[in-house]
Amino acid sequence: MEINNIMVAGSGVLGSQIVFQSAVHGFGVHVYDINEAAIEAAKERLNVLKERYKADLGLTDEVLDEAYNRIVFFTSIEEAVDNVQLVIEAVPELLDIKHDFYAELSEKASDDVIFASNSSTFIPSQIKSFVKNPGRYLHLHFANEIWKFNIAEIMKHEGTEEKVFDRTIEFAKEIGMIPIPIYKEQPGYVLNSLLVPFLNSAEYLVVNGIADPHTIDKTWMISTGAPSGPFAILDIIGINTPYNLAKTKAAAGDEQGKKVAKYLKENFIDKNKLGVQSGEGFYTYPNPAYKEEDFLK
Ligand code: NAD
Repeated sequence: MEINNIMVAGSGVLGSQIVFQSAVHGFGVHVYDINEAAIEAAKERLNVLKERYKADLGLTDEVLDEAYNRIVFFTSIEEAVDNVQLVIEAVPELLDIKHDFYAELSEKASDDVIFASNSSTFIPSQIKSFVKNPGRYLHLHFANEIWKFNIAEIMKHEGTEEKVFDRTIEFAKEIGMIPIPIYKEQPGYVLNSLLVPFLNSAEYLVVNGIADPHTIDKTWMISTGAPSGPFAILDIIGINTPYNLAKTKAAAGDEQGKKVAKYLKENFIDKNKLGVQSGEGFYTYPNPAYKEEDFLK
């Protein structure tokens, strides 16, 4: 199954990164977004990405310009899907939006095109009924800043054709990712199945008065050799995300969730300490204490 051109639907935070990563690795990329304003925003994001690829990967202007020239922009699904072999969907994480997108895509795409969703929180079975050909549907999930954190989690559902699964794994390699094959549906894939309980446990230790955040990070760093602990990771993710997760748990009656939501709101959200992005969270930036030499002493 040859893949020369791909379509990326939704050119926001993740979509634009998938576009650029694929173009840098030689693929023709059709970008689809809803209107001209969204396309203009995508072009701005791509220009920022160019600078990041230059700084982080040392790529030359020539290579980056060639990549940019492989990208074509569309506001019509029908035109965007013409002559592509793979569609990667990165539209907003709302089932209604995904539903309408896949319904139209299924109508306009030829039968042999692979559809891969980058959805973080849905599993394939929640979306596969929206597509005409579920055997060619699966998930291809990237991490933010894909050129640096280059894993791609490939998750099939029971009806995904084996050759579609294998070809998507190959494609992930072709664009410089380390593929993580996932053989059964699992909310959170591999990474978040590990990370979310880890971060929750760290938060519970704090809100139950067991230990303070820097001590917990220190414990993890000294005993595993990891370069950072759970609270440094929360700062990178941004405090809004764990706060929203805790609020959802609290709304469902979870007592620990209530404590975490209250703690994060009073100590961080209300004080605009949102992590790395705001300059302060569990640490202060740009020189957080956990990177100092005597932190582990
Ligand atoms: P985003 O809000 O930054 O971008 C969404 C894009 O979709 C925008 O360009 C928007 O114009 C476009 N869009 C809006 N409505 C649309 C429609 N009806 N049809 C097509 N496009 C439409 O979102 P994001 O953070 O890039 O997330 C996109 C997907 O990627 C989600 O499924 C999310 O779960 C997943 N994801 C996000 C991250 C992350 O860190 N942001 C990481 C992994 C996966």
